[in-house]
Amino acid sequence: MESIVTVDDVPENIRLLAGILGAAGYKVRPASNGSRALATIMKEPPDLILLDIMMPGMDGYEVCRQLKQDPLTKEIPVIFLSALDEAMDKVKAFQAGGVDYLTKPFHEKEVLARIDHQLTIRKQKNEITRAKELLNNILDASIDGIMAFRPVTDPAGRIRDFTLLVANPTAMAYFSCPRPGDNAHGTQPDRSVPLFSSCFPELFQSDMFHELVAVVQHGQVLNREFFYDTPACSAWLAITAVRLTDGFTATLRDITKEKALETNLKRQAHIDGLTGLSNRRYFDEFYALEFKRCLRENQPLTVIFIDVDYFKLYNDTYGHQKGDECLIRLGQAFKTCIKRPGDILARYGGEEFVAVLSGTDLSGGEHLAGTIQDHVHTLGIEHQNSKIKPFITVSMGLSSTIPTRGMKMEKLIETADRALYKAKQNGRNRYEVSLL
Ligand code: GH3
Ligand code: MG
Ligand code: MG
Repeated sequence: MESIVTVDDVPENIRLLAGILGAAGYKVRPASNGSRALATIMKEPPDLILLDIMMPGMDGYEVCRQLKQDPLTKEIPVIFLSALDEAMDKVKAFQAGGVDYLTKPFHEKEVLARIDHQLTIRKQKNEITRAKELLNNILDASIDGIMAFRPVTDPAGRIRDFTLLVANPTAMAYFSCPRPGDNAHGTQPDRSVPLFSSCFPELFQSDMFHELVAVVQHGQVLNREFFYDTPACSAWLAITAVRLTDGFTATLRDITKEKALETNLKRQAHIDGLTGLSNRRYFDEFYALEFKRCLRENQPLTVIFIDVDYFKLYNDTYGHQKGDECLIRLGQAFKTCIKRPGDILARYGGEEFVAVLSGTDLSGGEHLAGTIQDHVHTLGIEHQNSKIKPFITVSMGLSSTIPTRGMKMEKLIETADRALYKAKQNGRNRYEVSLL
């Protein structure tokens, strides 16, 4: 039940109002002069006050002024009461903090309508305040940086910068400008850094600024990950910016941990666990890219398959552990031979390796195959039961092409594999060439 304090020095008026308001369902508390009114209001603040202006002692204006100075009572709406024949200073009434006035004699319907109107406004105000508080709490608690900006335009209407409207503490932690006594907390931005260019000078200088302008001008959503390296912070951030009325709102999230994990996973997914060389998966991706690049640039592409000879026998003789060690040593040996920046060396599977040499023609490939052969011989890894040499040897298959449109990229792989088969057939410890 909403409560109303009625203040009037004339008992008849108090009685009348009590009748009207009581019948309408309000809880009414009367006061017969200014100081009693203040006491009863302070003791238990009502939802609304009807306040007579002309009273002996403290008048209504003074009571109202005092109420408006106290945080406990300043939000309570005050409606002034005045007799028609009294000289009422309306300006003074509003200046004292009154929201409306009623003239005596009272008309029941008017009294109730004006009271209802003010109580509705007050309820709406309370709701707005609560919503604002809730919003601020959400902003303050968010682990994402949240900001809103509005454009600053030049006379020609071009966006030159943005003014900061809101930033939560997380967002402020990314601000670049160090501020005296700044603890990077609080929902209100510092007055000295209201511009995007001063909060994020590094981004202001970059493409990001133009992308944000596009967000505002064309309503396109900006979603970007970037490494933010400034005196204030060094982190991978993900930004999402969307248009909001005439400006934009942006969230910033620290994704440094996720990025590190992603990079690590990506690297691990591409590396062969035993030899540390690239794996089949990486080969497949890289080969496709190189094939397309050579097609575009009209460059030769050479593939070499390398397979260890009689490796099953090696395992049978020396054990699987020694077999592993042998593969590691061979891998390292191949790596010292295949070292051009564009080249790739991968473990294709088991005891089979593959090299892709882009920009290298068949004769270059053959030269390299010879080098690999020599290198493996120099290693001289003992293999007593090999049927050709008392040490480890390898067989290689080569193929080369200048990719053309319509050529299947698998074709080159198949041809190199066929060449390897030929090398095995022809006695191992050698390389053979097959042409497409
Ligand atoms: P060829 O000269 O015809 O190539 O004979 P090979 O014995 O080398 O060929 P085969 O394909 O018959 O046998 C390959 C062997 O390689 C069998 C397999 O156990 C061994 N191998 C494959 N991967 C690994 C590995 O990671 N570690 C070890 N130790 N052995 C492996
Ligand atoms: Mg083999
Ligand atoms: Mg094999």
